[in-house]
Amino acid sequence: MRTKQFKAESKKLLDMMINSIYTHKEIFLRELISNASDAMDKLYYHSLQENLALNRSDLTINISPDKEARTLVITDNGIGMTADELETNLGTIAKSGSFDFKNDNEKKEDVDIIGQFGVGFYSAFMVSDKIEVVSKAFGSDEANKWTSKGAEGYTIEPCEKDTNGTVITLYLKENTDDDDYDQYLEEYKIREIVRKYSDYIRYPITMDCQHSHLKEGTEDEYETVTETATLNSMVPLWKKNKNEVTADEYSSFYREKFFDYEEPAKVIHTKIEGQVMFNTLLYIPRHAPFDYYTKSYEKGLQLYSNGVLIMDKCADLLPDYFSFVKGLVDSEDLSLNISREMLQHDAQLKLIAKSLEKKIHSELVKLMKDSRDTYEKVFTAFGMQLKFGLYNSYGTKNDVLSDLIMFHSSNEKKLTTLKEYVGRMKESQDTIYYACGESVAKIDLLPQVEAVKDKGFEILYFTQNVDEFAIKMLNEFDGKKFANICTDGIDLDTDEEKEELKEKNDTGKEMLDFLKETIGEEITAVRFTNKLKNHPVCLTAEGEVSLEMEKTLNAMPANEEKVKANIVLEINANHPIADKLGDLYGTDKDKAANYAKILYAQARLIEGLSVENPTELSNMICDLMV
Ligand code: ADP
Repeated sequence: MRTKQFKAESKKLLDMMINSIYTHKEIFLRELISNASDAMDKLYYHSLQENLALNRSDLTINISPDKEARTLVITDNGIGMTADELETNLGTIAKSGSFDFKNDNEKKEDVDIIGQFGVGFYSAFMVSDKIEVVSKAFGSDEANKWTSKGAEGYTIEPCEKDTNGTVITLYLKENTDDDDYDQYLEEYKIREIVRKYSDYIRYPITMDCQHSHLKEGTEDEYETVTETATLNSMVPLWKKNKNEVTADEYSSFYREKFFDYEEPAKVIHTKIEGQVMFNTLLYIPRHAPFDYYTKSYEKGLQLYSNGVLIMDKCADLLPDYFSFVKGLVDSEDLSLNISREMLQHDAQLKLIAKSLEKKIHSELVKLMKDSRDTYEKVFTAFGMQLKFGLYNSYGTKNDVLSDLIMFHSSNEKKLTTLKEYVGRMKESQDTIYYACGESVAKIDLLPQVEAVKDKGFEILYFTQNVDEFAIKMLNEFDGKKFANICTDGIDLDTDEEKEELKEKNDTGKEMLDFLKETIGEEITAVRFTNKLKNHPVCLTAEGEVSLEMEKTLNAMPANEEKVKANIVLEINANHPIADKLGDLYGTDKDKAANYAKILYAQARLIEGLSVENPTELSNMICDLMV
């Protein structure tokens, strides 16, 4: 018997498997089970065509571990293989060309391929140093045995086998410091792997399992019996009808599969029949996983091809702003052995992703409508991600995201949507007002807020750094512009009030210029304003950059060049301090200068900014006190 060599490309894949440092070697079982299932599909199809009396329920896959021999045997009664088929199927990699071997030398790349895609029969070499495949093709009289120790090549010889099908014997590798191969002989481990990857294979996967129980007629004598157990449930939850699945089943499936201790906020179970048909079972969590807002969080949905898991976290199925969604997609239109590159460019996958996005959006809108409290919980957990989505998509996702975001409202004293805000706008109002700050309480203390509220306008409170950036991308909502009440863009005065203010600013120009010179380069001007009610001063940013944006941008470590807002010190034209400044300017310029410095420092503190020279400030205040 001559030992034959593997074909070049197959050899590469084989080497990759033999030397694999991949940590999820257990997927070899998924591959072998999937091949067995295919072999039975083929036989069943053949029997239908030939009108053979074959019972689908007779088709089974059996797994049999032998601890003494250190072998794991996988048996199926499918279509089997002839000697020629053993030669072509196992001597040559079937899906020639679907792997890109360019990165052959990069172990990391290799590992990725193994992790994400069906790598087929050869993956068994990750755990075995010798494999025997005994097979008898359906309708054939002879059986053959294919044997290989990997690198050295393989042999094929005739052998005895009664029935059609394939028996694969894996001679497991010896344990090493890093790898425990014995585990694949343990009943619990095999159960676990089957349930994890192949639960939904439509043929029973059986194994002889041992049970220990009280011997009949005795009180303390135990006996061990062997029973054949079916390890897989065969019907995936998501392929059942919605009315066959209880809320409990959905929820425990979620908690076990996606490791959450809490119930999901929302279950989305649907079958989509468009250009691509697929079943999907999605979950919206109630709270963010601890690593959600870190780099280590990986988004993605499980991807199944007709019940067989082909990818654990398919990132391409979810846009970043819905990265919190958990769940799975199962499509019969996807092939099991699709490579990563193909997957990325796969038109079907893109179509699936597109309809998922639509579905998730409409379900979130529905959740907001039907169960506001729950939606608010979800929003509290993931709202920042939605807002980052607005910001990162440069306006292209405004329609998907603008009706999902919420802000605290000065009127409602709770979260409100933009749509609700617009619904409450006064007839004369054409702008959505907002104010930024660290917290709702701090914003409430801003001098500008009081006056805007007093005029009867509602204000949205932006408390997260991303808020204002996101809104800038949104630009407008329902035809209404946004205005930060702490920038000069807002105009709530009547014509008369405007006229009066202009006059005050004109006549006080000399003094105001003097105050500006005193304070220096940090500000661009000092002027009187009507937008304050009881407070004496405030800072207003002119132009594109608000004070909040300045704070946020400058806090980013990557920003070497500091961003500067154009700041104006505004003095309440109707406050006694305005008159006092006028008096002092005429009588005691030095004192007026000190007042200006103190007022500017106050305005900074109110904004949550630091004061450059607190000692000087303290001394100036003390001078006034004594
Ligand atoms: P793939 O399953 O992606 O084609 P594999 O390397 O896993 O690649 O298998 C190669 C081929 O060997 C299969 O296409 C199939 O024709 C054949 N084969 C593997 N396992 C079996 C089996 N248990 N019964 C019958 N044919 C099999």
